[in-house]
Amino acid sequence: MDIRSDIGSCGLSHPPPIRGKETYVARQVYHSHLQRLLRVNDVGFKNRFREVHLWVRPYKNGGRCPHCGHRGRLLCSHRQERVWEDIPWGWVEVFFHYVPREILCRTHGRVQEEIPWARPHSREPYRFEYLVLRYCRIMTQQAAADLLRIPASTLSDLLHRLIVHFRQDHRIRSLRVLGVDEISYEKGHRFATVVYDLARSKVVWIGDGKGRETIDRFFRDGLSSEQRKRVQFASCDMSATYIGAILDHCPHAKLVLDRFHIVKSLNAAVDEVRKEQWRAASAQDRKVLKGLRWLLYRHSSTRTKGQTRILNALRRGNIRIHRAWVLKDEFEHFWDYSSLGRARTFIKRWCTTALRSRLEPLRQFVQTLRKYEEHILTFVETGLTNAVAEGVNRVIRMVKNRASGFSSLAAFSDLIFLTIGDVDILGKFPNTFRVP
Ligand SMILES: [Zn+2]
Repeated sequence: MDIRSDIGSCGLSHPPPIRGKETYVARQVYHSHLQRLLRVNDVGFKNRFREVHLWVRPYKNGGRCPHCGHRGRLLCSHRQERVWEDIPWGWVEVFFHYVPREILCRTHGRVQEEIPWARPHSREPYRFEYLVLRYCRIMTQQAAADLLRIPASTLSDLLHRLIVHFRQDHRIRSLRVLGVDEISYEKGHRFATVVYDLARSKVVWIGDGKGRETIDRFFRDGLSSEQRKRVQFASCDMSATYIGAILDHCPHAKLVLDRFHIVKSLNAAVDEVRKEQWRAASAQDRKVLKGLRWLLYRHSSTRTKGQTRILNALRRGNIRIHRAWVLKDEFEHFWDYSSLGRARTFIKRWCTTALRSRLEPLRQFVQTLRKYEEHILTFVETGLTNAVAEGVNRVIRMVKNRASGFSSLAAFSDLIFLTIGDVDILGKFPNTFRVP
């Protein structure tokens, strides 16, 4: 190809008016991570030096088959020039131009030669994709798009394509300790089910909905029957849907209802009592109840003396909330037991006291507790920690905050898989393309 005539047709100023700048750009590209992959034939500028266009070719003449890597015979062909958008360089956008050739591979026949700096059919080089993934892990997509100087919609499309590409052939492997949880998106209007590997603290699957058919879909499509048998422990919240599905699908799994989820539903019960009292209270009485919501959630170890005093004062202010709070605080002792017998006695006593309190939300909590008592005691028996479930939840919350309200589950799950998924997506890039 005659490069010079092509530059003319692109509307580039050629020869470039500033020789020094041209040499500088060419040297920078050469010394970047691409030095072993491409050679720069020519440089051109466009748009008042805001765009640098580099006419490149693969190092060592290329001409390799993208499937087997063997060198093939070059065929004479007139194919279209392709353009790749590289990482911007300061304020300057960088583009590569190259006309890929066709080769004849002994095994694969007539194919387009491998492009060493980019995936086939991709408009961005590997290192651009690597940077997209790295930025999206730590910042909002808008910020990443600004840094890479592309529209945010282009970036999220690219991100989705990359996640799909790297996860397409992925199979879940060696899942021994499984956790199931629900997450909300679209401002709490819609729900999805998340399955994680508690032994490795990674998310392995995300499905739309929180019903039985969703979790059934995971067990049917995600795991083979052999894999289902090999699950040793399974942890979830106290919802009958997840518990039923786990017991049905994993015959050898010990079901553990972990601390994180039990505390969550106890807190919800206490909060229900508070709401009831709030609704019933007069404007005068509501003054006492103000600001209680987060105070009631607190663990006794994280309360200040002043806060405990406020809660104790409820004894005179509102006896029902006070009663609920005392029960909640007492339940904290349950997690200290290491002996199964003592833990069982504790639950029995606690349940009796809770029933005597005549608080309806707590009565319901007691019913669930009694129903799944064995699975809760398994937690004491196995000593499984709840730190992982809590950690995964924290990361998911963080991802959610970073993207304030996802329009679709696909966009949300892309980011979850990128941040805490079981496939190390960044690790799939060869060292050459990892931009510092
Ligand atoms: Zn081949």
